[in-house]
Amino acid sequence: MDAERAISTLHQQIRVLQEEARNASPHRRNVISATLETVSQSLGDFIATAVVADPISDSVQAVEDELGQSHLLEKVQERADELQTYIEEISKVNDDISREKDEVVRMNQILAKSEERFRSMIENASDIIVLLDVQGTITYASPSVKQIGGYDPSDLVGTNVLDLAHPDDALVMIAALREALSSPRRLLRLEARIKDAAGAWHVLEITGRNLLDIESVQGIVVNARDITERREAEEALRDCDPQLRERLSEIDAMYRYAPIGLCIFDTDLRWVRLNERLAEINGLPLQEHIGRTPREIVPDVGEQAEEALRAILATGEPLLDFEMKGTTRAQPGVVRYWNERWAPIKDEEGRITGITAAAEEITERKRAEEQVKRYAENLKRSNEDLERFAYIASHDLQEPIRVMVSYAQLLARRYTGRLDPDADEYIRFIEQSGKQMQGLITDLLAYSRISSQGNEAEPTSADDVVCEAIELLQMRIEETGATIVTRDPLPIVMADPGQLRQVFQNLIGNAIKFRKPDEPPRIQITAEKHGTMWQFAVSDNGIGIEPEYLDRIFMIFQRLHGRDSYPGTGIGLTIVKRIVERHGGKIWVASEPGEGSTFYFTLPAVTTEHSSIASEIR
Ligand code: ADP
Repeated sequence: MDAERAISTLHQQIRVLQEEARNASPHRRNVISATLETVSQSLGDFIATAVVADPISDSVQAVEDELGQSHLLEKVQERADELQTYIEEISKVNDDISREKDEVVRMNQILAKSEERFRSMIENASDIIVLLDVQGTITYASPSVKQIGGYDPSDLVGTNVLDLAHPDDALVMIAALREALSSPRRLLRLEARIKDAAGAWHVLEITGRNLLDIESVQGIVVNARDITERREAEEALRDCDPQLRERLSEIDAMYRYAPIGLCIFDTDLRWVRLNERLAEINGLPLQEHIGRTPREIVPDVGEQAEEALRAILATGEPLLDFEMKGTTRAQPGVVRYWNERWAPIKDEEGRITGITAAAEEITERKRAEEQVKRYAENLKRSNEDLERFAYIASHDLQEPIRVMVSYAQLLARRYTGRLDPDADEYIRFIEQSGKQMQGLITDLLAYSRISSQGNEAEPTSADDVVCEAIELLQMRIEETGATIVTRDPLPIVMADPGQLRQVFQNLIGNAIKFRKPDEPPRIQITAEKHGTMWQFAVSDNGIGIEPEYLDRIFMIFQRLHGRDSYPGTGIGLTIVKRIVERHGGKIWVASEPGEGSTFYFTLPAVTTEHSSIASEIR
């Protein structure tokens, strides 16, 4: 009876092995079948040794009779051991199979992911993708057939492509299919008219490849692109007159290769036509724009584009040089700027049928402008800080200096000649230096007040202002025997009268100061109109300036001579320059050393709106 159990266990193991073998990989199947063979052989041997005929119980009985029970039991024990070994072997095989199963599950997951990726690529493609069997029957159609042909993809499955083809194109299509079927991987390429769901014909550019030999595809993969519009345009072009055709192809080339974005919208702001540059700006293929709106493709500028459309539809007028800004798919997260020029397209009756738009990228320029603006603001702030500082410092220094000078003068009056000669000299030095510092402080204060305490420009008679300056310099003019001539009456200009007087006073003062030792100063003041500005010239016959110093003299504290020969603070010309520039003018100097110098400066002329006031002044 032990033998019977052993045989039945062996049978059971064989069945399990057979079951496993059915689901296993080819390699594993070989291993199992080798094991099975060994097991069945052992079983055969066993039966041959232990029994000669069925049923087993009878055979066992017969053998028991022949060899005696103890010998049979020994044999059975031997076979049972062998069986145990096989069972262990089988269990090992089982482990291997389960490991392989895990591997298969992992591979399946990877495959599923990759399939999902490819599927989403195909399902989102703008071209049509279909799979055909050998008869030309559609076995798969991508969702784009809905957008292009109005078909539901599932409705197309089972349809033969030849049923959709234009009768005139059917033969070409059959030939192309035959050609593709002639050998694996054969490419098919043709252009054919295909009917859409509404019965209209679309010209499709079709390419396909015979992948029937690939087990997972088993079909002809076909890719089709709608080129109806292109073909229609070409046909229209063929029909029109050659000169017009030439003009059109020129325009087309310009459109295609323009460095700015160009497009045409319909009156619902849907793209009808655009160039590559615009597609590049938006970061989406050109074809995918057609029929869609800016809100769908570049949502960031959607609102601005709609506003521009509304304005053009309302006025019928072009909208030129307005700015749009936003992000696009091409550079996500980067705010870009465009200068836009939009204009309506009108039919013969003057109705607006579309909009033409041009977008010039100005992001870089905009950034540079913003940077310059920031620099200018910083500069303005730091100038204001400096002016405030100069004002406070010079203002607060005035009083202590005044006290020092007064007491030095008091000392000089009371004690000169009563102390020793050195003391007299020291007191004189203190007084002199104090006065010099007083001059500096007064000039610094005047400089710091130019912007903060200047008045608005108003029509100002240059003649009157020059007269005032001459009056203030009267003593020095007389001392030096200077002559001042003005040719023709001087004009009326837009200026702060007080500051303009300061300009003439400093320039005439310098012309007297830097005179030649042996020649009385001769100063000439003239003015010429240059466009909207008056150009003044103050010339002298003084010592002149070496060419290398011509720019430096306008800088603060820059002097070319020692104080002993020509007293001064080095602020006078800086004040002049600042005043002129505050009025929107420029100042420069021309000079011949030993001959004299001419200081030129410009000031705005009186505009028409001010001319009535100007005539009153005259
Ligand atoms: P300051 O007169 O106090 O020295 P300015 O700023 O008025 O300061 O002038 C700066 C320098 O420019 C003078 O020191 C002088 O060297 C030169 N300069 C100015 N005006 C004349 C002039 N008319 N002729 C020759 N040199 C001049």
